[in-house]
Amino acid sequence: MARRLGRPAALLLAAALLAAGGSAPAQAGAERAGRTDPSATELTVVWPDDAAVPRGARVTVSGTVSGGPREVVLQHRSRQRGWETLRALTSDQDGAWSLAVPTTWFTTHTLRVRAPETVSHDEGAAATNGRLAVEPGYDPLGLAASFTLSGYRWNPCQVIAYRVRGRRLPSGALPEVKRALRLVAQATGLRFRYRGTSRQVPWRDDEAADVRRADLLIGWATEREVPTLRGNVAGVGGVTRGVWSQVPGQLLITDGMVALDVDARAAAGFGAGWTRGELLLHEIGHAVGLGHFFADTAQIMAYATRDRDRFGAGDLAGLRMVGRSAGCLTEPDGGLARSAVLRPAPQV
Ligand SMILES: [Zn+2]
Repeated sequence: MARRLGRPAALLLAAALLAAGGSAPAQAGAERAGRTDPSATELTVVWPDDAAVPRGARVTVSGTVSGGPREVVLQHRSRQRGWETLRALTSDQDGAWSLAVPTTWFTTHTLRVRAPETVSHDEGAAATNGRLAVEPGYDPLGLAASFTLSGYRWNPCQVIAYRVRGRRLPSGALPEVKRALRLVAQATGLRFRYRGTSRQVPWRDDEAADVRRADLLIGWATEREVPTLRGNVAGVGGVTRGVWSQVPGQLLITDGMVALDVDARAAAGFGAGWTRGELLLHEIGHAVGLGHFFADTAQIMAYATRDRDRFGAGDLAGLRMVGRSAGCLTEPDGGLARSAVLRPAPQV
């Protein structure tokens, strides 16, 4: 914009642009449904102009609801669990409301804004739908079909606490672990929280009782400590404990682990060549539910890829399937105690 506008003028202009854009305010409720109930909710929604935004962009959806203050919710249609609420708020006295659309992970949201159907009861709702793509900001290599799933995934609606084995941790490796998890979080919508170091050795059963545990354990080890790392195996990752979930055929991860060989010759950091960063992305990929995809070496989840330090198109598509866009995943009724515990084999 060439000319600087005063703040109120700029706001008015922004409102006018939104109203004039392709996403004109949608009307729902009494008028559209042809109802005569004077208490029926009228909901107007102004969707963002952009169909696609970069990750982290500030995007809001706003509008008005009749009979305010009223509760208004923003929902997304998850792949496995149907409509799920992302945000909720109470409109102001005049019925105005504004909700931030989450843009922290790569996905194409199918969104819906909803308000109770009438002032007097909450059955049904007035609602309008929209879409928003959150894009990675680079052109991922390979094909979006190049992934496999293990059938296990975390509950993306809970924070995953992770620890890093303190012993044998290479110099400079902790920031690499954090960066790798940040990249996985951006691709999945999973949230990871660092809880400090642990004395626990990944993939070893004979642990002392006093080790500090976490949902996800990442650490370096010798081949003697973790025999799976023998030979040319540089890392092993996966699910150490899972249970059946409420989604048929979908297994809920309760514990995951990653072990990396202290003697692997991967270079420090991320970037060109074979790096610890790439190794971490691959093994964490297993620990969040991805299998291998041998045929497309542009993917981090190809068995023996080289020179890759960010996820390919297939990796990203698979990671979306195990993340927040798939929907929350919960234990069966009765919880862990009544559910069989599953211990799948680790993947290298
Ligand atoms: Zn692997």
